[in-house]
Amino acid sequence: MNKLNNFVWETHGIHAGTEKDYVKHGIDKLEDIVEKALEANHPSITFIIHSPRLTNFRYSVEKNTNIKFIRGNRSYINYPKRIANLRKKYKGLINIKFGVELEWMGADLGLQWSRSKIFQAEDADFVIGSVHFAPEGLPYDGSKEEALELLKIRGSLEEYWSGYFNEIIEMIEHFGDMIQVIGHIDLPKLNVDVPEVLQNFESSSHPLANKFRTLLEVIADRDLALDVNMAGDFKGVGVYPTQDILRRAFKLKIPICIGTDTHHVKYYGYKFKESLQYVYETGYKHYVSYSKLIPEKRTIFDDHDLKVKYTILNKGIELLNQRLHNKNRRIIPDFSFGGTFSEFLDIYKNATGMGDYNAIRIRKANKSITVSNETPQAESHKVKGLFSKHADIPGVISSLFNTLASEGVNVETARLKSNNDGTAVAFLTLEEDNGNIKSAIDFISGTDKEIFKVLQYKEEADLPNFYEKGVYLLEMDGVELKLALSEKVILTKHHNAPGVLLILLSALASKNINIIDLRLGKRNNMGYSALAVDGDKNVINNLLNKLGDQYYEANLIEFHSM
Ligand SMILES: [Zn+2]
Ligand SMILES: [Zn+2]
Repeated sequence: MNKLNNFVWETHGIHAGTEKDYVKHGIDKLEDIVEKALEANHPSITFIIHSPRLTNFRYSVEKNTNIKFIRGNRSYINYPKRIANLRKKYKGLINIKFGVELEWMGADLGLQWSRSKIFQAEDADFVIGSVHFAPEGLPYDGSKEEALELLKIRGSLEEYWSGYFNEIIEMIEHFGDMIQVIGHIDLPKLNVDVPEVLQNFESSSHPLANKFRTLLEVIADRDLALDVNMAGDFKGVGVYPTQDILRRAFKLKIPICIGTDTHHVKYYGYKFKESLQYVYETGYKHYVSYSKLIPEKRTIFDDHDLKVKYTILNKGIELLNQRLHNKNRRIIPDFSFGGTFSEFLDIYKNATGMGDYNAIRIRKANKSITVSNETPQAESHKVKGLFSKHADIPGVISSLFNTLASEGVNVETARLKSNNDGTAVAFLTLEEDNGNIKSAIDFISGTDKEIFKVLQYKEEADLPNFYEKGVYLLEMDGVELKLALSEKVILTKHHNAPGVLLILLSALASKNINIIDLRLGKRNNMGYSALAVDGDKNVINNLLNKLGDQYYEANLIEFHSM
């Protein structure tokens, strides 16, 4: 028990791939690093690239070359494409993530420049906001001489650090939701001493201590994560940040992420276990990594049950986030936990309990999702509806719904199940029999005789059990759905009127998208549908965009987390 994981889902991972771009910085080839990670049997590798800097923000080593260049400009622009190619090449072998380390260079031109760089990094999994340069044009992490020059300008150690914290606070205010993580929060210790008032920041009444406490509170309020960065360790000044800082961060419920921030493949995987032990000693029991801007929870210990719970939580967050517009995706949601998930109540700010309800509820911007890995109970009472056994091919469900609709029969909800032998079964709960159900069955049997093996309307039937082990979407906005999640899921919120759902089903049938399962729900005149589907994502997205204004929401959800 309590065995530390021997792998870290890095965020501030490895700077690499600038290659021939005049930069002696992160020049290792991306492929070489992926190969190394594969060799080590790692499930994931995280690349990170610096956003290029304005030319007056340069390290002296850069100024002293005889070539003028903007560091990494060319490699930066091509990075997302190269990562996409890597993902294709290593598909199924390793999970490849990439992030941007966004440079703070003041609120004027620097800010506009950074905004344009963010635009070029749209596909990034996360963005770290970092201050490396003082507005005076001197770096905090350059040479000793550069640091001493800045110290001389600022007059004292306290002012030196105070300037750095001011810049981080200013960066957070201006970058807003462009960033998810604050990079190496005590970076200046690389070249200058840490003043005593800062070493005792918890108890000191000095303005610098106060400023630093404020900075941590700002980070907590904005739901940003702190970068636990091993680079300080192999540079001999100790991990960024110190354990004292992490202890306070833990009390403020600031999430942390972990990385080696290495620029050389030889340091890849440096002290994984030590980094986990380091954060564990300060109170943390989990950390986060990022996938498409979404923080994913990771365990410190090799604890299977906890990993499973985090996976469900991650899936739930992805479900909810992909229902939202980009801007809202970056905001951390609110949580409720019940049953076996109640242990998360201590971890999340403002989380509320749900008693014995064994599920996770996640909400944001008037939308909510409830997920669980508890297999729903099959209903035991007698049901009335249409039973079907048919060929497991695209279009069948659409044809069934179409024929029923043509007779004015509305489907209340449906359950499908593939038998994995080329056949599938379905049960459709129908709104009351208007006398035309028999006629609808005759029409289907006439038209699609070879597809439907059984098609029977029953008034007093036992509902077959369609539930298997899995992760379930129990509800959407409080409307019960109980859909088992598969790789691709479509969620819609639409006007609940006869025929509206047919638009979606017909669109899917026309593009040969197979429906694995389908659940419907409603609240008054608002209809909800959840479909597990199989097909090309671009084709599906394209048709979802064309459903029309009776669909208030129609999203394809794909799961990137593991
Ligand atoms: Zn950095
Ligand atoms: Zn870095």
